[in-house]
Amino acid sequence: MQDDIIKGLNDQQREAVLHKDGPLMIVAGAGSGKTKVLTTRIAYLMGHHHIDAFNILALTFTNKAAAEMKERINKILGSGEARNLYIGTFHSVFAKILRAEAHHIGYPNSFTIYDTDDSRSVIKQVVKDLNLDDKLYKPNIVGSRISSAKNGLISPAEYLNDYHIMQEDARQNRPMTGKIYEMYAARCYKNGAMDFDDLLFKMHEVLVRFPQVLHKYQHKFKYVMVDEYQDTNATQYAIIKLLAAANENICVVGDDAQSIYSFRGATIENILQFQKDYDNVKVVKLERNYRSSGTIISVANEIINNNKGQIPKELWTEAPVGEKIKLVRVLSDNDEGHYVADAIKEQKLRNHYSNKDFAILYRTNAQSRAYEESLRRLSIAYKIYGGLSFYQRKEVKDFIAYLRVVINPNDDEALKRIVNYPVRGIGKTTLEKAATIANQRDMPLYNVLKAAASLGLKGATLESVQQFIQMIEYFQSMLAKSNAYDVAFQVGKHSGLVKELFNDKTQEGVARYENVQELLNSIKEFTETPANIEDGEVGDRGLATYIQDIALLTDADNDKEDADVVKLMTVHASKGLEFPCVFIGGMEETLFPSGMSINTREELEEERRLFYVAVTRAKEKLWLSYAQSRYRFGQLTANDASRFLMEIPSIYLDKTMSGGGARNHMGGGFGSSASTSAFERLHGGRGGGFDGPVRKKEPEKPAYIGPKPTPKVVEHQPSANFVPSDTSKLQ
Ligand code: ATP
Ligand code: MG
Repeated sequence: MQDDIIKGLNDQQREAVLHKDGPLMIVAGAGSGKTKVLTTRIAYLMGHHHIDAFNILALTFTNKAAAEMKERINKILGSGEARNLYIGTFHSVFAKILRAEAHHIGYPNSFTIYDTDDSRSVIKQVVKDLNLDDKLYKPNIVGSRISSAKNGLISPAEYLNDYHIMQEDARQNRPMTGKIYEMYAARCYKNGAMDFDDLLFKMHEVLVRFPQVLHKYQHKFKYVMVDEYQDTNATQYAIIKLLAAANENICVVGDDAQSIYSFRGATIENILQFQKDYDNVKVVKLERNYRSSGTIISVANEIINNNKGQIPKELWTEAPVGEKIKLVRVLSDNDEGHYVADAIKEQKLRNHYSNKDFAILYRTNAQSRAYEESLRRLSIAYKIYGGLSFYQRKEVKDFIAYLRVVINPNDDEALKRIVNYPVRGIGKTTLEKAATIANQRDMPLYNVLKAAASLGLKGATLESVQQFIQMIEYFQSMLAKSNAYDVAFQVGKHSGLVKELFNDKTQEGVARYENVQELLNSIKEFTETPANIEDGEVGDRGLATYIQDIALLTDADNDKEDADVVKLMTVHASKGLEFPCVFIGGMEETLFPSGMSINTREELEEERRLFYVAVTRAKEKLWLSYAQSRYRFGQLTANDASRFLMEIPSIYLDKTMSGGGARNHMGGGFGSSASTSAFERLHGGRGGGFDGPVRKKEPEKPAYIGPKPTPKVVEHQPSANFVPSDTSKLQ
């Protein structure tokens, strides 16, 4: 059995899997099997060493990655035990723990999770209440300052007492930022709400302030594992260090060359620090890549070797050289879209690829539009990750706001959204009055409304407010006995929300109505999916669990594995994923590398790591395109080809031009199309003597073709083919 688990691993991978106790660090290049080793190690701990799944904590980059890991472990072990693992993103795992422990720091265990919109809205209100200039104190700017503070474990009090921070804010002409932070934190607390950063910050606080809680989880998590370790920030690292302090069975896997979140506070120093923090760290290096063709690996090495600050390592592969990388010059962003859509169509016809074998990666979300139009024109199914996701649509947020108020009536942000939607005669003046009282008395808005009579409200308004409160209380009375769907169904019906949308027969109205139906479908699906069994909390399919789950969904989680669609996403979102065919668009100066990140070596090196991440997603074929001009910020701009393209030796490239729909295949170089851009001067002709990438092992061996994992991702996102019979009753 144990031999089966480690079958097929190479020596270094096996060494990592067999290492049982004590700190372990795997620093390895892209596609070298880091995630696979982590998965196998968990299976081996369970299958061979009989470590209980309940005692293993694993932190992944997306919840989807966690679901896939569980699936694979179950497959390896042939049991359903993996469901008992504590596995997920930092945010989802800590949210789950805080659900049990938040009362220690005065929060209800049913606390609400504020998304960025909610938190920006609270900041806006605080700025208003403090009579500050909202042009200076923009919610985004102040919000990211607060976020950095939390990620640096700086409390409002510490912030206000830190001379350097206050100086910095004064220099930025925003001296009141600390005060806003303080009031923002107080308001979130009053509302029983945590923002995303709080899930880390408060988790840390609970562990530090309450040793009994720390001991409980130190004892529980005998083995701690972290994927994508290079992108953990200081707070995340501090927490895992605390959790692992008793047993020191901590295994981190990462690649310094793929560290791409320094703006979120993650730094390469993590990797170096780990070896300082533990004195008996076992370090394993993996250098053989199992993902990509020889050419792709050679190019990835060439690119990353331009970075100075990195741990030396070189990827190699036994896979065949494969095809050259297509370097495509297009006229414009629209032309780029056409080129890519045409190429996908052609590849599907010639090489029997399906839509899902393609990914289109870009540096900024705005670039997706041109691709979308062209894909639609050719009827190629696609899905965009990022941008406005399902759960960010207004009607979906409105519905969820009702559910949030039912769970936590102190959630002012949700309450404000729905108290007079659909319109029920609780006007702006009434609300402003109530909000003022709430502020003065430092109490939640809901409590003010509940006491409306004693606060002087009369007549029809008073009646409306009382009816509203009664309705919410009715929903709340269902919570103990009913599952999430049953409560949501009643909410849709009695709030009037579904009816309101149903009555809107405009095209947008119909789409909104369908979205809400879709949401109900997904809640139904959630209630019918067996829950994880955790610490006595068996089979909880209640509304609170549902609300927590969706608050933490990322776009990558919201993916149906079997959907045959081309995937469009930013390079950041593509981390850890792999696709047979990858297009990277917008390879132009000021776009990739971003114009905002070329002022220091550090910034530029991070952009280069981002490019390295993008290139190493591809298994078989890779296209790089750059446009002579493109619309950016409403203006047509002409850009030079990206400096990164010049770091790729010509021998690996197959250069193609596209323009006005007609494409020329130019073989090597750009032939007669006279142009004098720096790029073409450099890449005027074929380098000659192409004899493939450097490899360390015999080249004849075919690429590894492993068994395709068939993960069954049990999720509760909207599903097109699942229509519960009874939502029709809602109208
Ligand atoms: P990234 O840096 O992009 O996160 P990674 O190092 O986590 O990559 P994995 O995703 O674990 O790499 O593995 C890359 C691919 O190589 C996967 O398809 C995996 O199944 C395959 N692979 C890894 N190790 C082996 C092996 N020993 N034999 C066969 N296939 C392997
Ligand atoms: Mg990985």
